[in-house]
Amino acid sequence: MKLISNYINGELVAPNSGNYIDLYDPSTGRVYSQVPDSDASDVQKAVDSAQAAFPSWASTSIEERSKILTKIADLIESNIERLAEAESLDNGKPIWLAKKVDIPRASSNMRFFAQAITQFSTQAHEMTDAINYTLRQPLGVVGTISPWNLPLYLFTWKIAPALATGNTVIAKPSEVTPMTAFLLSEICIEAGLPKGVFNIVHGDGLKVGAEITKHPKIKAISFTGSTKVGAEIAKVAAPVFKKVSLEMGGKNPNIIFADCNYEKMLKTTVHSSFSNQGQICLCGSRIFVEKSIYEKFKTDFVERTQALKVGHPKSDSVYLGAVVSKPHYDKILSYIQIAKDEGGKILTGGEAVFPEGYENGWYIAPTIIEGLPYDCRTNQEEIFGPVVTIMPFETEEEVLHYANSTQYGLSSTVWTENISRANRIAKEIHAGIVWINTWLLRDLRTPFGGVKNSGVGREGGFEALQFFTEPKNVCIQF
Ligand code: NAD
Repeated sequence: MKLISNYINGELVAPNSGNYIDLYDPSTGRVYSQVPDSDASDVQKAVDSAQAAFPSWASTSIEERSKILTKIADLIESNIERLAEAESLDNGKPIWLAKKVDIPRASSNMRFFAQAITQFSTQAHEMTDAINYTLRQPLGVVGTISPWNLPLYLFTWKIAPALATGNTVIAKPSEVTPMTAFLLSEICIEAGLPKGVFNIVHGDGLKVGAEITKHPKIKAISFTGSTKVGAEIAKVAAPVFKKVSLEMGGKNPNIIFADCNYEKMLKTTVHSSFSNQGQICLCGSRIFVEKSIYEKFKTDFVERTQALKVGHPKSDSVYLGAVVSKPHYDKILSYIQIAKDEGGKILTGGEAVFPEGYENGWYIAPTIIEGLPYDCRTNQEEIFGPVVTIMPFETEEEVLHYANSTQYGLSSTVWTENISRANRIAKEIHAGIVWINTWLLRDLRTPFGGVKNSGVGREGGFEALQFFTEPKNVCIQF
């Protein structure tokens, strides 16, 4: 069994307590490794090393920082097979998906910010007898906290801009899926990242995450995870005026008008509903369909969904692997029960699956539910699994009301060939991201994040570089 280590001051080390948490393979339900159960003393060690490394890292040239991040990107790329297998084993997602999406994107994150930092600039404001210019300086030691659904993808999305801007970092991956972050620490050692610049402290959210959040020497927290934990972080960070970026939960609408490109919509809607077992914060879990095509859509969507294979993540023909953990599996099944209790009709799925030879793994059939009002629990609360509802609508006004009715506002998808309508809806919808006639098409330069209870602040492009730097105005009179 390969034990996971913390990565502190450039070395792979055991937690001070010597305690570990079991790590499960979701495809079999068995323990396959252990992750450090770190505590405040490990975080302190990481902070000490990050503080010591900060002056030197902050003063390295942009070219040097860019070069080392590029080297890490290259090494992620050349280790794609190993990393994809590890991601799949840890998370339950199909290996082909990790190879196609998660690991290439982790490499792109490092490469993108290695390049973005070379293009980052500041403003000057001229007066008649003076000039102001803005310095953008790194914050110091910063913390990143990330979730289990896209483990290395979201982990690197945070550390890359933090490191590129000259900060030193204490990162905490999810204790549910820490393996690829651990493998990344080996890659960082190989890439020659100076000691203490980047530290990974593994462990429980309530111990390590909470300690990072409250530690007075950690100047900012970039968090991705649930709205509940985001609120907790905001509460702890506010009184000490810590900078926070919070990327949180969603309940995204997928709005389908009768005039859409039907085949493209149908194909994409299958992916936006069930990709990664529905465990992508951007999945469209509430599907609103214009009444005139509702019955046709229902028949076709159910048929396409029934063709999706659920099974062991190592098989290339499997579309849905296992969901991430036993508690999450129980949560998803409990929401299917809630949907039934609320009067929902299960059109397909609605139950656990037990693939031959892997009966103890955590598999759930892709599930489509109809007959529920827009404001019931099933349609208001985040399920974060392979479960979607479909609902008919008649007017634009009506569907906007439904779409905007939740506490969330992360992303949305709209299908129509009517450009005026597309633009009207894009303006009116409460979401940080609107995809029109597409889904999950990403340009890393764009602002990424949510409104309402889905997010505070934006990641991506220069927004991330701005978050990890402090602007300072310098005014010189002639
Ligand atoms: P989570 O909030 O339970 O955990 C996220 C991270 O926070 C983990 O590393 C966890 O250990 C840590 N944590 C837990 N309690 C903490 C505390 N009190 N203080 C500090 N850190 C703490 O989320 P999860 O279950 O890992 O991930 C699923 C959630 O993430 C879903 O709600 C999903 O929508 C959301 N998500 C959002 C985005 C986005 O970009 N908005 C992307 C991916 C996932």
